[in-house]
Amino acid sequence: MARTDFGPPDYRQMIPPVIARNYGKWKYHTIPQPGVLKHVSESGEVLYSVRIASARLVSTDFIQEICDIADKYCDGYLRFTTRHNVEFLVSDETKLQPLLDELKSRNFLVGGTGNAISNVVHTQGWVHCHTPATDASGIVKSMMDELHGYFTTMKLPARLRLAVACCVNMCGACHCSDIAIVGIHRAVPRINHEGVAKACEIPSVIAACPTGAIRPNPKLKSVEVIKEKCMYCGNCYTMCPSMEIQDAENDGISIWVGGKVSNARTAPKFSRLAIPYLPNNPPRWPEVTDAVKHLVEVWAAHAKPGERMGEWIDRIGWERFFKLTGLPFTDKHIDDFNFAPTTFRSTTQFRF
Ligand code: SF4
Ligand code: SF4
Repeated sequence: MARTDFGPPDYRQMIPPVIARNYGKWKYHTIPQPGVLKHVSESGEVLYSVRIASARLVSTDFIQEICDIADKYCDGYLRFTTRHNVEFLVSDETKLQPLLDELKSRNFLVGGTGNAISNVVHTQGWVHCHTPATDASGIVKSMMDELHGYFTTMKLPARLRLAVACCVNMCGACHCSDIAIVGIHRAVPRINHEGVAKACEIPSVIAACPTGAIRPNPKLKSVEVIKEKCMYCGNCYTMCPSMEIQDAENDGISIWVGGKVSNARTAPKFSRLAIPYLPNNPPRWPEVTDAVKHLVEVWAAHAKPGERMGEWIDRIGWERFFKLTGLPFTDKHIDDFNFAPTTFRSTTQFRF
């Protein structure tokens, strides 16, 4: 019988020998300098992880380059983290500084550890997905060109996790990031009735709508959308290309704050709406970049040491958050399904 699902290879074939020898015996780690983690085992053996920033969508040339560097300094051992950082795993301490020197000479940014911005998690954007309201990697590039000083140092009050999703389906980690940038559609899908009739499975399109906004239109052998119920999620477009959701004039960007995955100190939190709409302005998205930079700077100036964005907001309250940041608080911030045609809902807790 043909074997069709091979799955990933067993991780034990790929871990560095020092990790295999000390599996389950690592005692602690320190961060001797930004971007360098030192793990120490019960046996006294040491492993250094050197972290560099990477674009999430990378070329084969880039992969070849980092593999060549890993061959030279790490016996070929490197890994990608869940935030798309690249980590070189160095078990020979004498190779640590030469590796750092070579990375510097090739203009790689070393950092992303401790109280810093780590690599930005982001979604597919215009390169790949079908429902984006904005690009993802383009925004990340524009934003990190401004913020990389917070990647290569550890001068923030706490760690800062950024994420970008190009639509509200948010296949990135936006729902629980310190600052999340989320592309938004603001208009109901445009129905090409002829296309729906010819190409789409109408029951599947109707079932795909989370708010029950789509109903059959038997006269046209198509569907119609109840405008008041639509929240512009684009799920129907996923099922049927004749329900176009992208709209150059209305699509834009929202910014969410205060989420975290970690349960250190305080419970995990969802990100909440801070800025309901900014224009989608490629190729450099200046409004988005300025807004994120401003949020980082206000938080960094007012948070106590160790306080994540959401913990800081919990302490000072949302009213003061809007005062300190100078952001307007609008009806768009209030969670209420009745506002569905005009607002992007957050959560029931999001009230003064
Ligand atoms: Fe596609 Fe939305 Fe994910 Fe972007 S966030 S890649 S548009 S599903
Ligand atoms: Fe329903 Fe979303 Fe399509 Fe609107 S965009 S009709 S809410 S599936």
